[in-house]
Amino acid sequence: MIRPVELIQRKRDGGELSRQELDELMLGYARDEIPDYQLAAFCMAVFFRGMTSAETHAFCEALIKTGTTLDLASALGRKVVDKHSTGGVGDKTSIAVGPIVAACGVPFAKLSGRGLGHTGGTLDKLESIPGFRVELSTDEFIAQVREAGMAIISASADFVPADKRLYALRDVTATVDSYPLIAASIMSKKIAGGADAIVLDVKVGDGAFMRSLEDARTLAEVMIDLGRRSGREVVCLLTDMDQPLGSAVGNTLEIREAVATLRGEGPPDFAELVLAAAAQLLAVSDLGIDEAEARTRVEQALSDGGAFGAYQRWIRAQGGDPDEGVLPSAPVIQALAAPRDGFVAALKAFRVGEAALHLGAGRQTKDDRIDHAVGIVCLRKRGDEVGAGEPLAEIHARTDEAATQAAQELLAAYEFADVPPPVRPVVLDVLA
Ligand code: URA
Repeated sequence: MIRPVELIQRKRDGGELSRQELDELMLGYARDEIPDYQLAAFCMAVFFRGMTSAETHAFCEALIKTGTTLDLASALGRKVVDKHSTGGVGDKTSIAVGPIVAACGVPFAKLSGRGLGHTGGTLDKLESIPGFRVELSTDEFIAQVREAGMAIISASADFVPADKRLYALRDVTATVDSYPLIAASIMSKKIAGGADAIVLDVKVGDGAFMRSLEDARTLAEVMIDLGRRSGREVVCLLTDMDQPLGSAVGNTLEIREAVATLRGEGPPDFAELVLAAAAQLLAVSDLGIDEAEARTRVEQALSDGGAFGAYQRWIRAQGGDPDEGVLPSAPVIQALAAPRDGFVAALKAFRVGEAALHLGAGRQTKDDRIDHAVGIVCLRKRGDEVGAGEPLAEIHARTDEAATQAAQELLAAYEFADVPPPVRPVVLDVLA
């Protein structure tokens, strides 16, 4: 039997923990035999001392061993690909990428999460669609992927349970932003979810965990190493989160934007990321094609309506109505006017996310209820020219007061200049 205090002390002093010690620590925590305060101290020790590569891998596997795992490859008889984003503002990428990948003949089976704070969660966005069920049994999940080509569902309670508790604990003990803790947390869920190949979208900038490209690269390298050690192929896209992704921020608005993108009418930055992520997924799938051929197939699925058809089949299969007319809409729509002539120099993602959160589009605590109809549409983004009085954004609110407060917050997210800012592409780098 381990003594947690000895492990905490060794980690505090810069030592390394063994696989068996980490297994016992995580199992003890998951079984409620080791209290939160000892794990909080452990996380703080890891925050300051880090973990070796072998230790991070052992920790990731220790998390996985606390719950059930899925073997989708055997169930589907196919190589299974998965995608994950480290989270950002306006990030509805999986909702557009899944149908494209499915339309190209590659099964897309994803366990997803809910949002907390300024970033939204894919499940919350999908729940804007009347009737959509995020909770399916494993058998229903697999049957749907087989028949409709894709499914995105909520993970069950016994799926990497130690991570669920530890993530909530890290959130309130200032230990979220540690490379080994983030990497093991994300990769434990991807590996337990049964993926053979994983495309990770590591967000960089104002609205992301990783503020600099250098930090994002370090995190990506740790996750690629964890994947390799577990026999999984991992590709990391490092993508811009200095400004919101696309135009829409808020659940229903984001569903509309994902659907528009499947019809070839999405905002350019979001459409480019969707194309890049879908192409990477096809390139690591069992289709045996390279990235150039994968891009051609993605473009074809978008232009021939195959991707949009796959979206409709998926939503119906999961109990929802794919008709956009049934989506909720907000009673108040207010325009935010530009205070001056010039170019948008920056649109701070974090502030936009906060403004949407205060409108009711997100959760401040995990028990908050979401208002699916409200949010923000950013009509002008970095590099766009605007004249004084022209609309910068559209605020979708429940009340006039809420809209006015959001307008003030949103204005503080905009920065202007007399000349256009340097171009920053949405995909900043790709690591494999
Ligand atoms: N997302 C996760 O799932 N875990 C982390 O630690 C950070 C982001």
